Amino acid sequence: MRQIVLQAPGQLVDRRVPSPARATGEALVRIHRVGVCGTDFHAFAGTQPIITYPRVLGHEIACEVIEAPANDRGIWPGDRCAIEPYISCRDCRACRLNRPNCCERIQVLGVHVDGAMQTFLAVPIELLHKSDLLSMDQLALVETLGIGAHAVNRSGLAKGEDVLVIGAGPIGLSVVQFAQAAGAVVRIVDKSESRRAFAEQFGAEVLSAPDGRLADVVFDATGSAASMSGSLHHVAPAGRLTFVGICKDPVCLEDPLFHTREVTLYASRNSCHQFPRIIRMIEEGRIDTSPWITDRVRLSDVPRLFADLRQRPHTIKAMIEVDDPGAEE
Ligand SMILES: [Zn+2]
Ligand SMILES: [Zn+2]
Repeated sequence: MRQIVLQAPGQLVDRRVPSPARATGEALVRIHRVGVCGTDFHAFAGTQPIITYPRVLGHEIACEVIEAPANDRGIWPGDRCAIEPYISCRDCRACRLNRPNCCERIQVLGVHVDGAMQTFLAVPIELLHKSDLLSMDQLALVETLGIGAHAVNRSGLAKGEDVLVIGAGPIGLSVVQFAQAAGAVVRIVDKSESRRAFAEQFGAEVLSAPDGRLADVVFDATGSAASMSGSLHHVAPAGRLTFVGICKDPVCLEDPLFHTREVTLYASRNSCHQFPRIIRMIEEGRIDTSPWITDRVRLSDVPRLFADLRQRPHTIKAMIEVDDPGAEE
């Protein structure tokens, strides 16, 4: 089968390897779509702190089941599934608290272990979430949407609350969609004109800078320490602040403000138990995936086009088409 491996930063290699054999409890799946995200670009640039090389990237995955073990989840060969790419240990404190997204020994497909930039993959059956209705493109968007769904869930957002989302990249936009679905009134702010133009499609009020109005709940989706520090200023008294984007630097919070407003601060990592709910919401038309995909590339073109994809200013979500005729060559 075809496999695109990131040998070292900047070195994507197209190679042929034997198809994987499935182990006990695993399904063998054919990959159809892989979404590209910031993590992949950071891995390519050598600035992703966790990843080791060589690594097959790809954690936003849509697939078709080829072989499945006996299971009680109703998954059969031929089913179309999203893959939840987080493998947890089931034993650490976080896992025992039913919060496997912050498992101490978490393994993320495409980060800690090989992911989906290849024709076939063997994965634990529990990672599969099927839908008879969603397209392969939609199934590959579920992981990205999970980031926003989980962040909104963490914040305890209620109907009618005012929300400010800082950063109109994919993470911020996924927050916008689930905040709106929760019945909140949403504003989104981004310095970039092209990102603002894109965000207009999502139906929130789009701003180039915060306008002084305080919000019940602020989500920072920038991954910038300066922005995360400043985001506290926009939280209303007794409000909540959620850090969705992750950053490697310390974040300073102005304590008198944090205290006088008695702000609650949340971190939000990956997603937790969100895949079934998101699939249902897309099936029911409560989440619109139509604006999302801005770029398409065939798997065989990934080594040639990946560096360029990273530079395209308009890119929100690039989708790799693995089921192209050339993938089997
Ligand atoms: Zn991602
Ligand atoms: Zn664990």
